[in-house]
Amino acid sequence: MSDSGNNQVDVLVIGAGNAAITAALSAHAEGASVAVLEKSGKDLRGGNTRFTGGVFRHTYQNVDDLLPIIKDNDSPGDVIVDPYTADDYYADMARVTGGRSDPALTKVMVERSYETVCWMAGLGVPFEFSRAVGGVATADGKKTQLAPGGAIRSLHEGVGLSANLFRLLDEAKIPVFYETPAHRIVTAPSGEVTGVEVRGPEGGRTIDCRAVVLGSGGFQASPNMRTSYLGADWSLVKVRGTRFNTGDLARAAMEIGAQSYGEWSGCHATPIDSDAPTYGDLKLTDKTNRLSYLYGLMINLDGKRFVDEGEDMVLYTYAKMGRKILKQRNAVTFQVFDQKTAPYLETRYNTGVPQEANTIEELAEEVDKKYGHMGFGKEAFIQSIHDYNAAVQAGEFDPTRKDGKHTKGARPEKTNWATSIDEPPYLVYGATVGITFTFGGIHVNTDAAVVDHLERPIPGLFATGEIAGGFFYQNYPGGAGLVRGAVFGKISGANAASAARGA
Ligand SMILES: Cc1cc2nc3c(=O)[nH]c(=O)nc-3n(C[C@H](O)[C@H](O)[C@H](O)COP(=O)(O)OP(=O)(O)OC[C@H]3O[C@@H](n4cnc5c(N)ncnc54)[C@H](O)[C@@H]3O)c2cc1C
Repeated sequence: MSDSGNNQVDVLVIGAGNAAITAALSAHAEGASVAVLEKSGKDLRGGNTRFTGGVFRHTYQNVDDLLPIIKDNDSPGDVIVDPYTADDYYADMARVTGGRSDPALTKVMVERSYETVCWMAGLGVPFEFSRAVGGVATADGKKTQLAPGGAIRSLHEGVGLSANLFRLLDEAKIPVFYETPAHRIVTAPSGEVTGVEVRGPEGGRTIDCRAVVLGSGGFQASPNMRTSYLGADWSLVKVRGTRFNTGDLARAAMEIGAQSYGEWSGCHATPIDSDAPTYGDLKLTDKTNRLSYLYGLMINLDGKRFVDEGEDMVLYTYAKMGRKILKQRNAVTFQVFDQKTAPYLETRYNTGVPQEANTIEELAEEVDKKYGHMGFGKEAFIQSIHDYNAAVQAGEFDPTRKDGKHTKGARPEKTNWATSIDEPPYLVYGATVGITFTFGGIHVNTDAAVVDHLERPIPGLFATGEIAGGFFYQNYPGGAGLVRGAVFGKISGANAASAARGA
């Protein structure tokens, strides 16, 4: 295919995030000619992938399994790694999705997670241990207990992942056409995919191809689709990542008969800094997240607690916590900590400015200075902290695991990490909800082929990543998004290359 993108290519890949680029590299490795279409300009390229913490959830028996992935980029001396087996992964998926995750798709994701991350490392994507996200320092501060399943991340997080994936595209001489959103999938009368219509810098045109891989993300950046599918409350929420994932290709695929699949009213949404920008900021990437609520309290504008902050380890609750915050007035919450738990705050809190005071009453005054105009319930806030403190039961606080240190008589109860708020200075971080990605999408089978309502593959059409539904419902285990995209990226690229060969 020429630089103008006019000639036929074997495999056309739509999008330039982790899912799409792994598909492009996989198709190239199978001998196909490949081109990538990207909606954004070069400066904003990389989709949500560039914003990620780079955590990849995959199976491993022990730290030795991780060493071929980590290579010389890191050393295992100061980390504690518990085994994370396929059974653990299945159990996590079943628990967080309420047993709804598609069993066949989940099996592929779980069973191929380790080999796919090894494949990426072999291609030249560097990884390191994931200490900052999900990792917790042991009591003596000497080691870090890594999150089960989430033990590694790409070196320099999503920014590094994205840069390395684009480097690999360059090395493979796979062209990327920027500012070229695809909007329609062209089919022959037989139903076979023959090309894609785009609106490029020079205007509209059709690019011919033998197979297409859709890797264009979810629809979380479309206020219109958010409102239509997630509900009116989601119309105004902040978007944690890219502004370009607006569901264009999910709609285009459904127009040619693709089956919609999964939880179209569901999404991944987390607590983020209440002052975070409307869309993700590439200087902050995922640093607006506010995920240490486990060790403190979350109190709403009315001064009330509304959730069990200590229900589970962070990577199993953070993705559904945004939805709970959205239900609070003005979608605002105050995360309260004292000096016993402040040392356990993720380093990402450094990007925010807390309200700080030496008594709970002064703390309420400080919060009122910023949020009083919204009708902050100052007295109720003070009372909620006192009520919670009175309900805290004896027990040993252990941030590295579910410690069972709980409250009795608090409303709602806190089931783990319940320590009293009594060691000043006290801190409040204001948080709101940020949407990460949507759960509903089009239906792919285990070959990453897009299927119609009779479960028949649409000839020449494949998909991977956030555009595919059926994996996550209500909630999500942290790090499964990148792995899902890479596992099905590798499969979709190979199968698209084979379809292009006429195999
Ligand atoms: C702040 C943040 C942190 C995260 N951290 C993690 C993490 O640590 N681990 C994890 O597993 N997941 C994480 N995620 C979830 C993450 O979004 C996914 O796991 C993963 O990056 C999605 O990859 P993708 O390739 O499917 O989509 P994306 O990376 O979003 O790529 C989609 C691409 O398609 C392009 N596109 C869209 N429409 C069109 C069109 N019409 N034509 C052409 N191109 C188009 C977009 O511009 C974009 O480049 C995080 C997300 C965010 C926002």
